[in-house]
Amino acid sequence: ASGSEENDVVVIGGGPGGYVAAIKAAQLGLKTTCIEKRGTLGGTCLNVGCIPSKEIHPIPKQVDCTCLVVILGSPNPVWALLHSSHMYHEAKHSFASHGVKVGSVEVDVPAMMAQKDKAVVNLTKGIEGLLKKNKVNYVKGYGKFLSPSEISVDTIEGGNTVVKGKNIIIATGSDVKSLPGITIDEERIVSSTGALALKEIPKKLIVIGAGYIGLEMGSVWGRLGSEVTVVEFAPDIVPTMDGEIRKQFQRSLEKQKMKFMLKTKVVSVDTTGNGVKLTLEPAAGGDQTTLEADVVLVSAGRIPFTAGLQLDKIGVETDKAGRILVNQRFATNVPGVYAIGDVIPGPMLAHKAEEDGVACVEYIAGKEGHVDYDLVPGVCYTHPEVASVGRTEEQLKTLGVDYRVGKFPFLANSRAKAIDDAEGLVKILADKETDRILGVHIMSPNAGELIHEAVLALQYGASSEDIARTCHAHPTMSEALKEAAMATYDKAIHI
Ligand code: FAD
Repeated sequence: ASGSEENDVVVIGGGPGGYVAAIKAAQLGLKTTCIEKRGTLGGTCLNVGCIPSKEIHPIPKQVDCTCLVVILGSPNPVWALLHSSHMYHEAKHSFASHGVKVGSVEVDVPAMMAQKDKAVVNLTKGIEGLLKKNKVNYVKGYGKFLSPSEISVDTIEGGNTVVKGKNIIIATGSDVKSLPGITIDEERIVSSTGALALKEIPKKLIVIGAGYIGLEMGSVWGRLGSEVTVVEFAPDIVPTMDGEIRKQFQRSLEKQKMKFMLKTKVVSVDTTGNGVKLTLEPAAGGDQTTLEADVVLVSAGRIPFTAGLQLDKIGVETDKAGRILVNQRFATNVPGVYAIGDVIPGPMLAHKAEEDGVACVEYIAGKEGHVDYDLVPGVCYTHPEVASVGRTEEQLKTLGVDYRVGKFPFLANSRAKAIDDAEGLVKILADKETDRILGVHIMSPNAGELIHEAVLALQYGASSEDIARTCHAHPTMSEALKEAAMATYDKAIHI
């Protein structure tokens, strides 16, 4: 049905934005085709992003008490690198203090990578199953515009087909941003994709860019034994984070032996020797220094991907950064052509792309859709994790909003103390007059799970008193949120 038969909706790109849009469109009764060039669904997120970098299945099949080799096979193992490296780190550094004795602890990098690859294959196949179940037609190939309603697809098998649609959704995502003068070879100079597939643990790893991805990947290899130095041009790591949380987060990473060179510019890269030699200079100018490593990870952001789409043929407008411009209904300037996800302005996150996808097809189907970019949570999946939603204290100051702050440290939370993992805090910012919650920032193990109570609170316009007066089970990490809420307008109990 991909050929001359007309679809109601054609989605170009099978990432979290595209495949979710395709499924939702089909569920709304629209005849839908999804085109993906990679040969597997799930996009950047599932193939070379969120999933392979993180944990999924926490239970090891077998723990040999004399010699724990991390990442053993399990019946349905879906592990990925952050979780895997965290387990190794725990076994090596924390088990003994919990009274669990193990002999030598080793890392088997090929086994770890094989588990990660298996996780990716399982999940991408799962999405293919979902498309089938929802009767979405799936075309594997590279799509390009012939007209606003016709897409020519060079198929993976080698042929060509034309897919027609009344509505076309561009969900082509993003790509790694390279830096001038630095060529990524995915061996010694790697992007996040290469960093997810290193064959051995680099003795020294330099990460260029202290954003979420750089810090997560730095954590993975740091836990496995690499000496990690993060070089960042800006004066701070993760500039979008609340300043107070960011400072504590940096200290925590430094305790894990991650080194930071902030306000530092990479001048040149030399790969003529065995390793890689970087020449660095203070951002404001000054004396040059050199730094050597076995592997350099370039993690300086991502750029929208529209190569080969032939957008110019139909006149779709983009901004200076190459992002496709859309209105609130995700419509481009060309009637019938929409865009969602990383390829349009907004947070470059998988869950934001998914929300875009659903809202976009709801509009196409004549319904209402809505995505509030101010309420998209952000999570850095290090250990501890850092999660946030809404405004930072710095933003409120800039906006001239009067606010109150409530904080609660996990050191005073019984669950965190019981598991001996009590680093971090909850910080709530609420309007001084109305008590309405404006921002919540959490640094703790599993902060990425805890944040959703706060997301819901912001979504429903709750006050900090609403959270404080909601009964929370004991003993849980979530109690820290309740206590921070109490501290916002009154006093916490347990501190
Ligand atoms: P993509 O996932 O990039 O998908 C676009 C798809 O379109 C691709 O599969 C591509 O092959 C296909 N395509 C492109 N052009 C064409 C064409 N012409 N024809 C056919 N197909 C085409 N986000 C989070 O929310 N949480 C995380 O923890 C997280 N971790 C990340 C870790 C890493 C290392 C990276 C790199 C990213 C991470 N992200 C994370 C970001 C997340 O991956 C993206 O925000 C998300 O994948 C964007 O979804 P998308 O559908 O817009 O685009």
